[in-house]
Amino acid sequence: MKKDKILVIGACGQIGVELTLALRKMYGDANVIASDLREEHELLKGSGPYVSLDVMNKEMLHVLVIRHNITQIYLLAAILSATGEKNPLLAWHINMASLLNVLDIAKEENIDKVYWPSSIAVFGPNSPKEETPQHTIIEPTTIYGISKFAGERWCEYYNHRYGVDVRSLRYPGLISYKSAPGGGTTDYAVEIFHEALEEKKYTCFLKEDTYLPMMYMPDAIRATIELMEAEKDKIKIRSSYNLGGMSFSPKEISAEIKKHIPEFTISYEPDYRQQIADGWPASMDDSLARQDWGWKPEFSLENMTTDMLKNLQK
Ligand code: NAD
Repeated sequence: MKKDKILVIGACGQIGVELTLALRKMYGDANVIASDLREEHELLKGSGPYVSLDVMNKEMLHVLVIRHNITQIYLLAAILSATGEKNPLLAWHINMASLLNVLDIAKEENIDKVYWPSSIAVFGPNSPKEETPQHTIIEPTTIYGISKFAGERWCEYYNHRYGVDVRSLRYPGLISYKSAPGGGTTDYAVEIFHEALEEKKYTCFLKEDTYLPMMYMPDAIRATIELMEAEKDKIKIRSSYNLGGMSFSPKEISAEIKKHIPEFTISYEPDYRQQIADGWPASMDDSLARQDWGWKPEFSLENMTTDMLKNLQK
């Protein structure tokens, strides 16, 4: 029987660190190779193999995959929404070339499974805002959303045309305490916890009533692993699954934090990220993920807030 050997690309990012640690628990430390452009993240040090890799260098990636007999690739390297708007051509180039390099090597080397995340950013102002369905109008207006939507089409194409077992989730904004967020429009929901504990006040870059779909990192890691562990024939959607957790506004999360830190105050100075958020859904309909592979979120705004504050105070 072939032993699994996993390569995580972009392992030092907000999701990568926690996903790598979770995969190492499941598959054994030595069988999960972490890679990134950056220096190895503190939390990964000593927990398993690490290689420095630029995913844009297809030849180097190909050699790495062959040398280590890689059977699964998790591609997490990307330019995120807010950073992407500052340099659209770079974001397009990196987000597309990284995915095409991975998909093509997966096809060439018969890699068992590939994971690549999409985002709620594929939706645009013309999509239904509440309980946004899986199949609906998809007209993204940010370069990040455009690159994710194009990426979804490439994933489906490589699956249908070449049989590459690529799986994907449209993550909502992710909230975590272990590794810092990497330049997204939902980063406020992480910053607010740090500032609440350190300064007792926070200035939010979104308006108080901006509702966005969000998810606590333990749910996102579990969803990713459950999707990847599901039987192949259960994965009916080969572009990317809608994934839901919770939906809240800056006003609501600040009220929740106030229950724990009564002196906490919030003020609002919306910037260019408001326009990005305005084009995105407020909540997601993830019924197909629930139906096909049994997805069920565990965290709500209440229990996430308690857990975030407890862990950040440690
Ligand atoms: P992040 O920015 O925190 O991490 C990305 C990592 O990729 C970084 O460590 C970076 O150094 C690395 N990287 C960048 N360019 C690289 C290259 N050329 N070669 C190798 N590594 C490179 O991002 P994240 O939040 O962990 O997101 C991971 C994935 O999930 C991305 O595809 C992102 O679009 C998607 N996603 C994230 C969120 C979220 O809220 N965090 C929401 C929806 C989708």
